[in-house]
Amino acid sequence: MAAPGRSLHGMRGMAAVPSYVVMQPTTLCNLDCAYCYLPFRAADRRMSVAVAEAVAASVNPWAASARFSVVWHGGEPLAAGREQLAELMAPFGPEVEHHVQTNATLIDDAWCEFFVAHRMRVSVSVDGPRERNGDRVTRSGRPAYDRIVRGVAALRRHDLPFSALAVVNDPAPGRAAELYDYCLDLGCEVLGVNIEETEGVNTRTNAHDPAVVTGFWAELVAAWRRQPRIHLREVEWSLRYAAAVLDGTADDLLPRRLDPIPTIAYDGSVVVLSPELAGFTDPRYGDFSSGNVLATPLHAILADAAERTAWVGEFLTGVEACRSSCPYFGFCGGGHAANRYFELGRFDGTETEHCRNSKIRLLEGVLEHARNHQSPGA
Ligand code: SF4
Repeated sequence: MAAPGRSLHGMRGMAAVPSYVVMQPTTLCNLDCAYCYLPFRAADRRMSVAVAEAVAASVNPWAASARFSVVWHGGEPLAAGREQLAELMAPFGPEVEHHVQTNATLIDDAWCEFFVAHRMRVSVSVDGPRERNGDRVTRSGRPAYDRIVRGVAALRRHDLPFSALAVVNDPAPGRAAELYDYCLDLGCEVLGVNIEETEGVNTRTNAHDPAVVTGFWAELVAAWRRQPRIHLREVEWSLRYAAAVLDGTADDLLPRRLDPIPTIAYDGSVVVLSPELAGFTDPRYGDFSSGNVLATPLHAILADAAERTAWVGEFLTGVEACRSSCPYFGFCGGGHAANRYFELGRFDGTETEHCRNSKIRLLEGVLEHARNHQSPGA
């Protein structure tokens, strides 16, 4: 299959209206995972209701005309407590879909009732069986695995569907099948897989042998094809892309403009494109924010964020460099801002270890699986 990146015309610039926003109800996390990127996870800085009201004033009209989600992220969003989370959710209209990304350790029956009452969709972070969760520890350094599993058990007791998000720091042979089989038992409906990234305060290397990473993705596809009971986020996107290339519609696959994905930090500051940049400062780029919802409506911030935020302009230059140089552009769309910044120190570079691990070798792995399983003579 020819990768048609260079001939792609679509997707230029950044859209003014997102499809979802990420909200940080608190900077605090009750865990202290070794690979975490968050700089202030030991501090409990809380979002005020005024911030949520300001965000909702822009979000509610968007949600009235198209599907729209608010993703409560952290820190650990459940560490804010039910009462505060309910107060922050109250300004959002009934059309808004609420999602929460949680480490699951605080989930109990009361939280499950909260999820039901607020029609909240849950995604839990779990990295596979116990021995793969060694990086996930409490603030006192104890393994968090049993608490994660207890939280998931509560979700299952309440028949709540949930997604899982797994970080893989060693994509060695056997790990992909192990992870997939584990998730079949866990009972999640959707699985997202992240090869560990070097970003934020996590400076561990994410460089791996290319063949090993390609083999990891190929093995994951094979495991999924044996029992395709879970939506496998990365693999399904790869297959959609491969099908679009084959029928000549790949140019229509990426959105016309990049989704700005604004992250609203606890204090109302808005960082577009990469939640991982929130809370960081740089002599060249300042605090990466494009404004604050307590001073300017979110829709007004997003209307000209690309022009007014120096690093965003630099990132869009990098996306254009990807378009003209990378055969995977049509699949990837130019990667993530935070990975460029934390790996390359700037935004207008192109390839990163992250895009090699999670874009290039993902697609190669899917193709490797297809090659290994094509019928003789095909
Ligand atoms: S981020 Fe990486 S994989 Fe994506 S288009 Fe750019 S160079 Fe290619």
